Amino acid sequence: MMRQDQVLASTLAGAGVALLPAVLAFYLAAGPTMWLVTGATVTALGLAFAYTADDEPTNDESSSTKTNCPDCGSRVLATATACEYCGAALDDEGIATGTDGA
Ligand SMILES: [Zn+2]
Repeated sequence: MMRQDQVLASTLAGAGVALLPAVLAFYLAAGPTMWLVTGATVTALGLAFAYTADDEPTNDESSSTKTNCPDCGSRVLATATACEYCGAALDDEGIATGTDGA
């Protein structure tokens, strides 16, 4: 006596194997357009899942922790005291401080 989930799994597996040649024949007959449509659909679904599944913003690399160097414009850590690219001094706000005494 098979359990119901085993019957379901067997049925699905059998149906999948049985449909495989039909699916392949369909795509071979349909040509590149159908491949393109399928690819676009899968991509859209994947992106939709990706954006709905993990909607949490990642602040590690966001603009809140980085700032533009006022001297050379490079992206530097907001907490840095000096630009790692040009060496310009930065305060906590990421603004160059007193390099020319003006
Ligand atoms: Zn710089």
